[in-house]
Amino acid sequence: MKRVVLASGNLGKLREIQALAGDAFEFIPQSDFEIREVEESGLSFVENAILKARHAARHAGLPALADDSGLEVDALSGAPGIHSARYAGPNASDRENVDKLLHELGDTPEHLRRARFQCVMVYLRHALDPMPIIAQGTWEGRILNAPQGEGGFGYDPVFFVPTHRCSSAELPAAVKNQLSHRGKALRKLLEIVAA
Ligand code: IMP
Repeated sequence: MKRVVLASGNLGKLREIQALAGDAFEFIPQSDFEIREVEESGLSFVENAILKARHAARHAGLPALADDSGLEVDALSGAPGIHSARYAGPNASDRENVDKLLHELGDTPEHLRRARFQCVMVYLRHALDPMPIIAQGTWEGRILNAPQGEGGFGYDPVFFVPTHRCSSAELPAAVKNQLSHRGKALRKLLEIVAA
């Protein structure tokens, strides 16, 4: 079993990633090494994912896996994008971010509310690895006028999934993992890492 530090303290992500990876890998959250979150100063998802992975690999002395993700809304020129987690301010709650998004979209009609979740996953064999393995996943949908459903996190209650006619907060976790940007990126990445 390969030990890998996960550049996130999010236990939901850890469970999701461990479930998809199976027995070949043991993912250890960076919080177990008392590693603090690094400043996400990059201008793209991929830059930020690499920053997170290098920071975790350096401090844990292990291979590292990092992800960076966010929501892109066409009518807002791609916002909130890489700023998704802090859209409504540095310590914004999910609810505050969703409220700001709905406010910015106002009464934009349904056919102009297209959006997608983006995810980039990065694997580094060691802190100075010059050849990161990078995989991307995208999930297309549109933004609802009001929140719907109790599951998931972040923007899930307002992300309408056309294939399932509900919000991503209304999908069972296993179904969301199959469809989501993060699930897609992770499956691609693990295939390359395990090869
Ligand atoms: P990070 O990848 O941990 O930096 O977080 C990116 C932000 O994007 C999260 O805090 C959420 O606001 C949003 N986000 C990313 N993935 C999802 C998802 O699957 N559902 C809802 N919101 C998400």
